[in-house]
Amino acid sequence: MDMDVQQLDSGVSPERLRHEQEQAHFNELYLLAPTGYFVVAFDGRILQANVAGARLIGVPRGAVGGHRFRDFVRRNWREEFDAFFESAINSRAPRRKQLEMTCADHGAPGPVLLASADGSGQACRIVVEPGDGKLAALERSEERFRRIVHCADEGIWEIDALGFITFVNPKMAALLGCEIEDLLEQPLVRFMDEEGRTRFEAHDVRRQHARGERVELKFLRCDGAELWTSAATTPIFDVAGNYLGTLALVTDITRSRASAERIWHQANFDELTGLPNRHMFRDRLAQEMRKADRGATFVALLFIDLDHFKEVNDRLGHAAGDTLLAEAARRVKACVRATDTLARLGGDEFTVILAGLERVGSVDRIAQAVVDALARPFDVLGESAGISASVGIALYPADARELPELISHADQAMYASKNAGRNRFSYFTQDLQEAALARQVIAADLREAIADQQFELLYQPIVSLRTGAVHKAEALLRWRHPTRGLLAPAEFIPFAESSGMIVEIGDWVFREAARQVRRWQRSIGPDFQVSVNKSPVQFRRDGGQYQGWLDYLRELQLPPQSLVVEISEGALQGGADALLGRLAQYRMLGLQVALDHFGTGYASLAYLKRYDIDFVKIDPSLAQTLDGEGGELALYEAIVAMAHKLGLKVVAEGVETAAQRALLVDAGCDYAQGYIFGHPMTAGELEALALRQAP
Ligand code: C2E
Ligand code: CA
Repeated sequence: MDMDVQQLDSGVSPERLRHEQEQAHFNELYLLAPTGYFVVAFDGRILQANVAGARLIGVPRGAVGGHRFRDFVRRNWREEFDAFFESAINSRAPRRKQLEMTCADHGAPGPVLLASADGSGQACRIVVEPGDGKLAALERSEERFRRIVHCADEGIWEIDALGFITFVNPKMAALLGCEIEDLLEQPLVRFMDEEGRTRFEAHDVRRQHARGERVELKFLRCDGAELWTSAATTPIFDVAGNYLGTLALVTDITRSRASAERIWHQANFDELTGLPNRHMFRDRLAQEMRKADRGATFVALLFIDLDHFKEVNDRLGHAAGDTLLAEAARRVKACVRATDTLARLGGDEFTVILAGLERVGSVDRIAQAVVDALARPFDVLGESAGISASVGIALYPADARELPELISHADQAMYASKNAGRNRFSYFTQDLQEAALARQVIAADLREAIADQQFELLYQPIVSLRTGAVHKAEALLRWRHPTRGLLAPAEFIPFAESSGMIVEIGDWVFREAARQVRRWQRSIGPDFQVSVNKSPVQFRRDGGQYQGWLDYLRELQLPPQSLVVEISEGALQGGADALLGRLAQYRMLGLQVALDHFGTGYASLAYLKRYDIDFVKIDPSLAQTLDGEGGELALYEAIVAMAHKLGLKVVAEGVETAAQRALLVDAGCDYAQGYIFGHPMTAGELEALALRQAP
């Protein structure tokens, strides 16, 4: 081997300037260089090494201090090394020496070229390069490398097989807002958050990606800000195919990403509530359905529709409506787990996806919690507003296999809740499904029913418990359907309500009942009354008809108190103020009012006082309990006593047995209605009965 110590051209600049230039050059190259750089003390101890150098001798960079350079020189080359070192340490001029080291980087020991510079007697620098003698080429490529790496507008990082950073360029350090030194030898993932790590792992930097393929990697800058990069990664393998690490070129895409994210957010989230919108909701639902398939769990889809929201909006204005919606969203959110998706589909419609469920029981609880949460009064911009919610529930996979079907089923179940009186939840079942289909058919048929005069009124006698005489009758609607026969109200009223046709039907009922009572006042007695039913929906909607009714009563020369309007207790839940307004209008017409289904839980006696009501009709369910030990009799007595004190008359409904009748007489009840006195019957039958029972 050639043992000459070569003298290279050292240039002619003044010593100090040269020193500084050299220093700057060295510092710059120090960490970046692909070749090993060492600073070695006069006694042969290594003072510093760059990354490549440390890797070359197989010692962590922080631990090189204890080692002597000579120990890494092959034994048979040590004497020659000593000579080189002696010359190098004492000369500012560069020296070169080719020899073999024991611990070459990645693979068998081999020849290396040592180049020294700036020997000061105390220390000198040694550069170790592959000793193939092609120094000029190497220098050129190193120079090129340095230029590229430094001027690059892209960040460059390299990690080893374990994911530790072995190299970053200044641009990368600047992107991360750290010093190069802070980055080297740190795990790359230390500069990522959870999302960044997940992305990083999903990308798999050990894999050879297609040329030009880039991945979006997310870093956390040292100041805590997010750094989004678009990266092209290249894994590095040794000749034996072992993975050595990965090199990456990255560009900063944080800004474009932020605006993309904003656009994405706008496309997927509802501005008012910040909840996922319809689009996002469908995505999530599809995702949860797939997960349920894999995990053998089920998904519950809740459709939530706010009852009476429109009224609040109309009464208090849109700003108040928005506030209410945002608050409603917060309340529902508080009822579900963080992993459940609450979305706003628009207007006053929300959905909840409950995923990963194993028991239906938990759905009940959540649905009830949602209903309860929304039934609490809302304080919007200083005003109090009352709404409630109708919730429909469909289950995947039990109720539907496909997404559109599942959504439509939850929607139908929600309508079932509405039809059942709102403020409740309903499950979608096969029965509901059939009912929904029937609803479509019925809704179509209903349109013809009025024109074709398919409606009829039956009358059920209401008798005085004191005398047994028939004083009044309740008009009960029937639909003589051309193919399905005589239909009871339960079979078509809900459809008439949801289609809005209830208003027209109610008008027909009112006029028909008015004509009938006028006849009866002549045949049975001048005080005879007929009551008509109003569903809560109808009650809220039929305001426009009052003038027409008044005119009609005048035309018939019928005193308005001949007609009693029965309003279900359930109507009271729509907000007291609206109800009071409506009742006042009935008053102005001169109609009488009965509170129907009293005792089913919603209205308390306190309501009786507030509302202008003439009769209380006690729900049949209470009559059924009268056959027992008589505890309920006390309840009747209390209701009667209270009603009388308020100047109201009491009608007991659903009286079927003589025993019930006797107890009601004892309780001081005024009137009774039920099968024991007569089923709903035709007008002719009722008249005959009334005349028979006349005192
Ligand atoms: P409702 O106001 O509670 O009417 C009383 C219902 O109880 C009637 O059923 C009647 O047939 C039934 N009933 C009467 N006596 C007895 C008894 O002793 N035992 C039992 N178990 N039941 C008895 P119907 O005729 O099927 O009416 C059902 C509901 O339909 C009514 O309930 C009422 O809310 C509604 N409805 C009836 N006609 C109209 C109408 O013209 N418009 C509106 N909106 N709803 C109506
Ligand atoms: Ca009734």
